[in-house]
Amino acid sequence: MKYIFVTGGVVSSLGKGLTAASLGTLLEARKLRVVLQKFDPYLNVDPGTMNPFQHGEVYVLNDGAETDLDLGHYERFTNCVLTRHNNLTSGQVYETVILKERRGDYLGKTVQVIPHVTDVIKNRIRELSDESKYDVVITEIGGTTGDIEGLPFLEAIRQFILEVGPENVLNMHVTLVPYIKAAHELKTKPTQQSVAKLREIGLQPQVLICRSEKPLDRDVRRKLSMFCSVSEKAVIEERDVEHTIYEVPLTLHAEGLDQLVCDLLHLQTPAPDLADWRKFVERVVNPKRRIKIAVVGKYMDVRDAYKSIYESLTHAAASEDCGIDLKLIDAESLEHGVDSQLKDIGGVLIPGGFGARGVEGKLNAARFAREHKIPFLGLCLGMQVATIEFARNVCGIKDANSTEFDKKTPEPVISLLEEQRGVRNKGASMRLGTWPTKVVQGTLAEKIYGDTEVTERHRHRYEFNMKYRDRMDAKGFVISGTSPDGSLAELIELRDHPYFVGCQYHPEFQSKPNKPHPLFKGFIQASLGRQSSRATHAQADQESLRRVPERELVPQR
Ligand code: GLN
Repeated sequence: MKYIFVTGGVVSSLGKGLTAASLGTLLEARKLRVVLQKFDPYLNVDPGTMNPFQHGEVYVLNDGAETDLDLGHYERFTNCVLTRHNNLTSGQVYETVILKERRGDYLGKTVQVIPHVTDVIKNRIRELSDESKYDVVITEIGGTTGDIEGLPFLEAIRQFILEVGPENVLNMHVTLVPYIKAAHELKTKPTQQSVAKLREIGLQPQVLICRSEKPLDRDVRRKLSMFCSVSEKAVIEERDVEHTIYEVPLTLHAEGLDQLVCDLLHLQTPAPDLADWRKFVERVVNPKRRIKIAVVGKYMDVRDAYKSIYESLTHAAASEDCGIDLKLIDAESLEHGVDSQLKDIGGVLIPGGFGARGVEGKLNAARFAREHKIPFLGLCLGMQVATIEFARNVCGIKDANSTEFDKKTPEPVISLLEEQRGVRNKGASMRLGTWPTKVVQGTLAEKIYGDTEVTERHRHRYEFNMKYRDRMDAKGFVISGTSPDGSLAELIELRDHPYFVGCQYHPEFQSKPNKPHPLFKGFIQASLGRQSSRATHAQADQESLRRVPERELVPQR
């Protein structure tokens, strides 16, 4: 078993997670079995309670763990399927230690950061290696070297290296090499100092990943090598990619990273097979056509807030040899009408969310998509909003609402399940993780999935209120997927619309570059269909727009 630790220096937001994930891609392409994990030094037990403005999206795993968005990169860039064991926060570490102390497990000893806290951290690395399913464990340490919170993690790594032997471990430091315009020079000093910080605690990186705007010339490489004590060929340049994050594995490969890592860890492998990955990147970079998709949400200035959704759109579009022009619309700006903003749009997507802010605008967007037969995909809150809109404007249930936005609404078309009513804690208290969905035969959903049983990841409290099912069905609102016992609505669609689909779950957590999610793929196909039919039959009656042609829906399995 080999171990790679990825630390970050100088500043945050260097793309450490992407770099770690990209190394995973390269090692998998060399037929190694890879797993990734993330250590986050903050004190929250998990990021589930954090605001997307602060922390970006919360990524949900099969087992219901609410984790850091870097785990999304790991799952998208490699074949590993992660569990709650793959994301450890200081909050969890201290929770474990304190619970043990209260139980009396430390037998009267003074409980300390070394060894008790560091032991919990080391055990988490061992848990993965004990499974012996992997050849390489890649562990990313969140935060920046020099942060007080990060120290116990770095100390745990130092001890761990002692235990497993330095020949089995590689420390990779992702750092910034800034370009100073006035001097026309790349500066190595911040990197030198950040490596010095690592050395202070007893860690010496063997590989430097240098994020920079300009190419690193020979002099800069020599300087970094000498001052930071890494070999010159282990100074790896990672410039900002031109088009897509999926280029990162290819640029790192061009810099020789995977060969270097295998040499340093004494791993014998075949040359990497990156043909499929290259093909995918080629399609993202040079698509034959383009489609405009509107995403109507709350956190439009924070690119990370809907990360998995944007990635899923990219995957689905690439599979149709198509590029996406994203139009990000702040839902609040649609509160007083949508016409001009949603004109010329191929499809409308409403993501998940919490709280009432922006809901009125989302309702308007859903209505516009329904009435103008624009392909629509509603995810979680997006589905709930579409439900409320249909109840109000088609079924005439004027006061229809979710009890999330109006506790006392007389028409709770979306409401809390009995078991959620008494829940007061905010942390990990939703319906979380993978649940099965039975897809109703003969629906568009069945065609899209090509299957009647699927499993999808959830993160929500509120549900469709089945009391309204028959009334809404009579008007064309179809529940096209339910929980196996039929009690919970999981998927909805409209009968008289080319593609109006909502799901109570989050398909965006299961889409990969070469395996786009069927709901996204169907959405893109329908949007392309609308675009081309608008181009060729500009005068055609809206009603004549057909559903997505069957042959275009390619089931995944
Ligand atoms: N706020 C809604 C609920 O709790 C939707 C959640 C979501 O979109 N993830 O059910």
